Amino acid sequence: MNCHFHPERLSVETCEVCRRPMCGECLWYADSGERLCPVHGEVWQAQGKAVYPPQRYAEGIAFSQVSAANPPKPHVPYQGNSNDMMALVAIVLGLSSLLACWGLWYLLPLVAFLLGLVAWLHARDALNPKRTRWLASGAMAAGGLFLLITFGFILMCMMCYIVTLTTSTRSGGFGTPTPFFFPTPTP
Ligand SMILES: [Zn+2]
Ligand SMILES: [Zn+2]
Repeated sequence: MNCHFHPERLSVETCEVCRRPMCGECLWYADSGERLCPVHGEVWQAQGKAVYPPQRYAEGIAFSQVSAANPPKPHVPYQGNSNDMMALVAIVLGLSSLLACWGLWYLLPLVAFLLGLVAWLHARDALNPKRTRWLASGAMAAGGLFLLITFGFILMCMMCYIVTLTTSTRSGGFGTPTPFFFPTPTP
């Protein structure tokens, strides 16, 4: 038999009031020993009887499955699974890379960028895909920005070097006129 509320899941118990089958996450327990479906669990609770909602026992089971049966009332600031955490770590690394000491500058943004990318790719498995994508793209943006600035700086230095090199050749070759820079007018 399958759960009355989750047709795709096998039932573990039946409600002692209505006899409907229930899965583990739909199961309410009464202090007096009865097992109840969510409907009768809430009825009993409203009657002032000591009953325990499934959330109490569902810790460790995928939170989304629980929340489908029993929407969470208390709001925890950061709830998530490993994918959420990865994005969080990625954005922390990404932001810290902006302030990172020069010694490891080439590692931190790269790690942040890659972590962000991985988290972004796994975002659909995360508890809160939208937030995870935001965090992951934030991490990628921070890491990418840092890399861009670094490479831009290197590129600028190279440009400066080339410019200085050409101008110095120009001024250095002042004594010996070269036909390239000072073309002699043809009669
Ligand atoms: Zn019932
Ligand atoms: Zn169920």
